Amino acid sequence: MVLKSRWSFEIPKVSLPTYIFDSPTIDLPKTPALISAKDPEKYFLSIDAYRLYGQRFASGLLRNGLKPGERVLLYTGNTLFFPSVMIGIIMAEGVYTGANPTYVARELAYQLRDSGAKYLICAEGGLDTGIAAAQEVGLNADQVFIFDDGVATFEGRKIEKDAPTLGGKIRHWTDLLDSEEQGRAYHWPDLRTSEELDRVIALNYSSGTTGLPKGNYQEYRARLRQLCFLPMYHAMAQAVFCVNSMKNRVPVYIMPKFDFVEMLQYVQKYRITTLTLVPPVIVAMAKHPAVKNFDLSSVEDVGSGAAPLGHEITVEFEKLWEDRRVNIKQGWGMTELTCAATTFHPDKFCASDSVGELLPNCEAKIVLDDEGKVEAPQGERGEVWIRAPNVMKGYWRKPEATKETITPDGWLKTGDVCYVDQEGNFHIVDRKKELIKVKGFQVAPAELEALLLEHPDVQDAAVIGVGSNGDEAPRAYIVPRTPDKATPQVAENIRTWLAERVSRAKRLEGGIIFLEAIPKNPSGKILRKVLREKAAVETSRA
Ligand code: AMP
Repeated sequence: MVLKSRWSFEIPKVSLPTYIFDSPTIDLPKTPALISAKDPEKYFLSIDAYRLYGQRFASGLLRNGLKPGERVLLYTGNTLFFPSVMIGIIMAEGVYTGANPTYVARELAYQLRDSGAKYLICAEGGLDTGIAAAQEVGLNADQVFIFDDGVATFEGRKIEKDAPTLGGKIRHWTDLLDSEEQGRAYHWPDLRTSEELDRVIALNYSSGTTGLPKGNYQEYRARLRQLCFLPMYHAMAQAVFCVNSMKNRVPVYIMPKFDFVEMLQYVQKYRITTLTLVPPVIVAMAKHPAVKNFDLSSVEDVGSGAAPLGHEITVEFEKLWEDRRVNIKQGWGMTELTCAATTFHPDKFCASDSVGELLPNCEAKIVLDDEGKVEAPQGERGEVWIRAPNVMKGYWRKPEATKETITPDGWLKTGDVCYVDQEGNFHIVDRKKELIKVKGFQVAPAELEALLLEHPDVQDAAVIGVGSNGDEAPRAYIVPRTPDKATPQVAENIRTWLAERVSRAKRLEGGIIFLEAIPKNPSGKILRKVLREKAAVETSRA
């Protein structure tokens, strides 16, 4: 049985910039919209400035020869100018792609090469990595730009750097900004035909393209305030803060990156009403004694997504507010779904282990086989498939992977295992796919396994996630090249060797366990379920 959302609405047939700003010329508020949490009086952008920087950037990109459909990669933590760069690329009909700011050069080079990016816009603090990656894929100095944390841009200071390995000087990103006058005069194309509206605008690495954003609740906006510490390169922060909050004219206080105590200070200081969290932060808030020292009375709405959240933690978290119920509303989704497919209606309380019901215009079915022919009886577990306008167009230049993931009639195989209760609420209970989520970040076991096989002491390897509440860690099961290598010292060597080659989330914090053989089926596929069961026994013994 196909499950249908209780609501539907007509998706506006407009470009993303028109959706957010209405038009290139309409008067927009000059009040602060994107605000530095650290220095709010000095550094902020209004929604008008967000649009204007976008227009100036679009105009500059086009003047520098960006052609429709060419990719621009942004490699940075959160800054006030991040949304403008993202939307500017889209206004110029380019394709935006954002990379995780913790990436090492090897990982960044992969994304540069895979996306075929024409330009790399690189955080000042990540320049060495950016230069090494650019060199690896053959970009020259003209194609790399320095992105600062916002302060230099506000002060009109240009930062530059010699990069002999790239054959010249790397310029500041503001070199790509046209003047205010040119910016105001730049009107992004008004998309009308279905082909125009169907264009790719973003490549989010897990990954796919963004479609049109979701509905909104405009009546609240005047008094709402949000805090953003989630990384903007990820589909979740992009959709919530760069698109929906701006569309709804809700001010967002931006943190360059997550810091637990600072987050609590800002909630208190700015009377934040709406928090978008991930399970590890909820766990910390529920358990950390310091939380009691902060005034969290302004908080009205808490959303959680990106990873599973346990029932007990939800109950503990909600005790932070003694006088009323501040309910965590879970949502569930994935990058391939332009962020989300289920959530709770704002007026409805969340049954704590549920991720809510289908978003408008979405359909779902719960299937028991790979072809989707056998559906699970009502209330029973199966893989959830989604068909909706927000399903990605496909994996960039990977038609085979796309075909494996999206059926010809439009169903996205999510790889998540779920059941739907009597009220139509979804409960995500397991993951069929390989993906590991470490503090909300994606870790692909196949990438780590391929790397581990390059180590001289490793004969075979399989990686799974261990842990709960979104706080999984990768654990490697390793067959040593010779039995005498199965020692704590070799395990330690392998752990540090890998840590030098990957970003933090991919380190083997879940440990290394030596085995005589990796459990595999007759066609050589790793039996991850067997390893997961093994890990559960190991954990209960520990
Ligand atoms: P990403 O594309 O990085 O957003 O990761 C998507 C994956 O995160 C999903 O396929 C799920 O496995 C997991 N996920 C996201 N939200 C939830 C949730 N509320 N509960 C359980 N798992 C989730």
